[in-house]
Amino acid sequence: MSVARFKRFAHVFPVKGYNRAILYDLGRKAHFIIPNSFIGFLEFCESKSKEEIEESLQPKGIYPLEYFQFMMEKEFGFWTETPDFFPPLNLDWQSPSHITNLIWDVEGEQLSTLVDWVKELNVKALHLRFSEGNLRSELRKTIQAFEGSPLRSLEVAFPFSEVIDLPFLKDLLYDNPRISMFIAHDAPADGVDYLDERKAHFYIQTRSPLFYDPNRCLVNRYSFQVDSELFIEAQSHHSYFNRKLYINTKGELRNAPECTTVFGNLNDIKNPKEILTLAGMGSLDQVAKSKTDICKDCEFRYMCVDNRLPKDRGNQQWYHSSPCNYNPYISKWNDEPGFLSLEECEVKSNGQGFSMDEDKISALNQRIWQKA
Ligand code: SF4
Repeated sequence: MSVARFKRFAHVFPVKGYNRAILYDLGRKAHFIIPNSFIGFLEFCESKSKEEIEESLQPKGIYPLEYFQFMMEKEFGFWTETPDFFPPLNLDWQSPSHITNLIWDVEGEQLSTLVDWVKELNVKALHLRFSEGNLRSELRKTIQAFEGSPLRSLEVAFPFSEVIDLPFLKDLLYDNPRISMFIAHDAPADGVDYLDERKAHFYIQTRSPLFYDPNRCLVNRYSFQVDSELFIEAQSHHSYFNRKLYINTKGELRNAPECTTVFGNLNDIKNPKEILTLAGMGSLDQVAKSKTDICKDCEFRYMCVDNRLPKDRGNQQWYHSSPCNYNPYISKWNDEPGFLSLEECEVKSNGQGFSMDEDKISALNQRIWQKA
């Protein structure tokens, strides 16, 4: 007689970090922070019968009863006599887009070129950056050109202007519902307005200039998203630089605005697909977080989109020259009480190598988390 086993849902993934772990629930687009030891418990449950699991629970066994209660209450899996009938999710990332994200600084009469590039490269997300000028007519003309395009999302950035008001932006959105966001930079104040009742489309005003700093970490806990596409891509690719292309007003082709390397010029390209063979194109695509110092020890590594430029140390090892806002060795953000920098934790990561003192980190964690 076959025995029922616990089977974790294929879309539920435990991800181990240095100090704690996260259960990614891709189906519910949710995540649960868990102790690393909970992952061992989940694996144990998948290999044992219900009776064996019950025997393993405290006070008789080694696992806390709360682990079992949490697993059942959150419905991370189900009981089945045929667990092999439920294959795991395929984590091989593939995309029909040659370029998934295109950032284009709109300049002069380029509209037909732009539409052509988006179509030929099968761009999924387009981010347009306008400069000063007749913004109302430029915006309308450009956005109309993408009506009926296969784009999934369109973001539009421009310098703040009194002539661009909410009724005008709502009107543009009505014409082209692919627009996910309008961003006005150099605005007199920060603010967000929603352009629809579902709050799915925004108008963001920011006092910041349009400035991309390769060393400024933009990652924060509010920017995370649990999403199956991102999760699968981040297993083997860089979730920010992979298949991204930036074209500035001089026509220079770069990976992203944070990058200084120019690998070609728009004016020299006859067919957009030519760019796929240019030297330097895609050089950061496969720099996954699992190959990058610090990030590989972080439980957020598959929900995080990090714009810092990774640097190559050789042998498939990468590092950053500036720290993230999160320290995974002590599970603290830099705006939380008890935060310590990597330097204070004596974690070193640079062109020479990576080093840390595990005993020191363990003592720090005891101090930080026992106090909390
Ligand atoms: S340490 Fe790396 S993976 Fe973790 S939040 Fe920061 S950038 Fe993301």
